[in-house]
Amino acid sequence: MRCILCERLSFKGICGKCLKRLLDEPKHTRILEGGLKVYSFFGYSAITPILHVKHNFWGHRILKQIASHTFGEFGKKFEFGEKVAAVAIDDKPHDGYSHTAVLSHALGSASIVPIYGALRAKNSVKYSGQSYEFRRKNPRRFKVSPKLKKFKYAILIDDVVTSGFTLKEAKDALAKEGLETLFALVLADAKE
Ligand SMILES: [Zn+2]
Repeated sequence: MRCILCERLSFKGICGKCLKRLLDEPKHTRILEGGLKVYSFFGYSAITPILHVKHNFWGHRILKQIASHTFGEFGKKFEFGEKVAAVAIDDKPHDGYSHTAVLSHALGSASIVPIYGALRAKNSVKYSGQSYEFRRKNPRRFKVSPKLKKFKYAILIDDVVTSGFTLKEAKDALAKEGLETLFALVLADAKE
């Protein structure tokens, strides 16, 4: 196959050179209203081609490759006194797999436990291209799974952060069940 970024022949979806260039990009941190810290690995424009292929046949493989170098490496270095739940935003499968579950799976480590289906949106309205006002008026209304009962701490996971509204709503839903969100980890920040 060819590298999706430079089209050179490559055994993997993203060739070694492009992967290195991507991983050398500066990381971003954003603090949302209410204090939730959001760490992202890339600016949105750097990985637009990856976000576009995630819906096609190669998408799963490419997302897995990039997840292991970002979420995977983060998970290996993360240390905490007790087990922390990795909670992906709405990891319902689309196109045969769940994008956020791939990220959450990669993050799994000695101290991070991915919990699938932990947070499901009761409202599945599309937010893409909608204003903050629209998002605010149409909250996701998350349902927290009882599987999270044995945890006190969580890390929220999403593929892209835009307004941050969804992450903030997710944090509040977890807090209602007694879980503290340490921070959120996303692949790309659309506000870079
Ligand atoms: Zn390349």
